[in-house]
Amino acid sequence: MAKRKARKKIMRKTRRSKAEIRPKKAVLHAPKEELKKELKISAIEEGTVIDHIPTDATFKVVDILNLQNYNGVVSIATNLQSKRIGKKGIVKVGGKSLTQEEVNKIAIVASDATVNFIKNYDVKEKIKVKTPDVIDSVVKCSNPVCITNNEQVATKFYVVKKDPLKIKCHYCERSMGKEDLHII
Ligand SMILES: [Zn+2]
Repeated sequence: MAKRKARKKIMRKTRRSKAEIRPKKAVLHAPKEELKKELKISAIEEGTVIDHIPTDATFKVVDILNLQNYNGVVSIATNLQSKRIGKKGIVKVGGKSLTQEEVNKIAIVASDATVNFIKNYDVKEKIKVKTPDVIDSVVKCSNPVCITNNEQVATKFYVVKKDPLKIKCHYCERSMGKEDLHII
């Protein structure tokens, strides 16, 4: 009798441990749809997704956030179809939340971008970027004799027009458009 009881106990134990590994199996057999999405561009558990970037500004966003030197997961996609802006880029950065300054910088090159803050694979907050009125230390002045190009003076521009972007240097009054923008 005692032996039988013991065996039963063992069987129950085995059953329980099987149940414990079940969640892992479920991940292995994820629905095809999910796998497809995974291959397209990997989802991030926590971090930031910058969406609706004009395709030609995608790598400028990468520059602004200095992602070349970032150690976390970064996914970059360009030339994706977008109903809203034609072709778009997406930048996903795992484990990073953006500062207001970084969001403002992104707005300069991607005025339609949305910034999604991700937690547990879910969008916790979604904001649309807003072009700032003053741009400090982000853009290089295109005038070679401007003081900011010759002395240790931080650049400063006033936004004259937001769409299409037109900015004016505080020091030399040089006007610059989107095509002259060089991010520092
Ligand atoms: Zn200037």
